[in-house]
Amino acid sequence: MPGFELFGNEERKELNDVIETGVLMRYGFENMRQNIWKARELEQALEQTLQVKHAQLVSSGTAAVSVALASAGIGAGDEVIMPTFTFVASFEAILMLGAIPILVDIDDTLTLDIKKVENAITNNTKAIMPVHMCGSMANLGALKDICKKNQLTLIEDACQAIGGTYDGKPLGSIGDIGCFSFDFVKTITCGEGGAIVTNNELYKLNADHFSDHGHDHSGNDRGKELHPFLGYNFRISELHAAVGLAQVRRLKEVIALQKKYYTIIRDVLSKIPQVTFRSVPVGGEESYAFLNFFLPNIEMTRQVSKSFKESNIDACFHYYDNNWHYIRKWQHLSEIKSLYPLSQEVVKGLRQLKNKTFSQSDHYIGRNLSCLIKLSWTEQEVQARALNMANCIKIHCI
Ligand SMILES: *Cc1c(COP(=O)(O)O)cnc(C)c1O
Repeated sequence: MPGFELFGNEERKELNDVIETGVLMRYGFENMRQNIWKARELEQALEQTLQVKHAQLVSSGTAAVSVALASAGIGAGDEVIMPTFTFVASFEAILMLGAIPILVDIDDTLTLDIKKVENAITNNTKAIMPVHMCGSMANLGALKDICKKNQLTLIEDACQAIGGTYDGKPLGSIGDIGCFSFDFVKTITCGEGGAIVTNNELYKLNADHFSDHGHDHSGNDRGKELHPFLGYNFRISELHAAVGLAQVRRLKEVIALQKKYYTIIRDVLSKIPQVTFRSVPVGGEESYAFLNFFLPNIEMTRQVSKSFKESNIDACFHYYDNNWHYIRKWQHLSEIKSLYPLSQEVVKGLRQLKNKTFSQSDHYIGRNLSCLIKLSWTEQEVQARALNMANCIKIHCI
């Protein structure tokens, strides 16, 4: 997955265009910038690549989720359904707006369980946010139906899944709004950055203004622009956008390489009867950023994970024991360790987490290993790696 593995002359050239003019800001300074608009160009490239009408760049993937929710009018006291397996950014972005994250079990897709989503809907639910973890997606067809029936907004967190598709459409383009991260370890990177994508005119307009202090971006004098509503600063800089522009042009090449290496490893592991793979919803195709598989039980999974490390098989994660990606270790959330007072509604919502158990999620995450597919490997290294992995698994599982 990591785009940082491919940093070369293309990135340097785009950066240099910006450095030559010295205009590091994406708005204004028309007379200095010599018609160089990297953020605009990257937005257009994303619109083409992701087959959407609008893209709005922001400063991070976390900002993208907050801006997406705000653009759809979601805020104080509103409930947003999200999965137990994701990155902490998902609930951070929801909490920032005073909304309440409602944690829901995942299934063998490693994303939201549809039945459990339906059961979690209340009168306060405003949005469902599936997270397409590790390159594969939630059952978007079913979620779309649920959102339609209950008049909810569908926000896709596609931060880890750029390049994947569902029903032939790019992930992120299927819900009402899609969110992407371009941080340093994502499939394509800006160093730091993010984007929201949408086909909804109003959401785009809201995101454009909200991410720049409410500026309405009309005319060519920033001081004279109007502020139709309150905003924040979630702007991306031209330097970051320049890197992303070079990176997004590599996306096809990146996905093809990921697919090739993923397939080599999967073919070897699939000969071991104790190994099963994450299921991908009908109509979906992964981005191949990670290969995810299950072992028979948690003890074996822990042993294999340890054995991978001892055998120098890096970048394979047992998220059950990871502090950042799975609810089991999110005590700062369940114990509400906030630097500043939170609203009563949020506190009440989060208190319910304290004694809640997620045994179905444990059942899947406890037995899951998630192996990053790197772009810097050679084909021989991948083949050797696959055999090495298979040996470790066989020692502990047969
Ligand atoms: C990386 C990530 C984010 C947040 O992105 P940042 O750019 O690091 O803020 C959000 N959701 C998921 C699933 C992620 O993996």
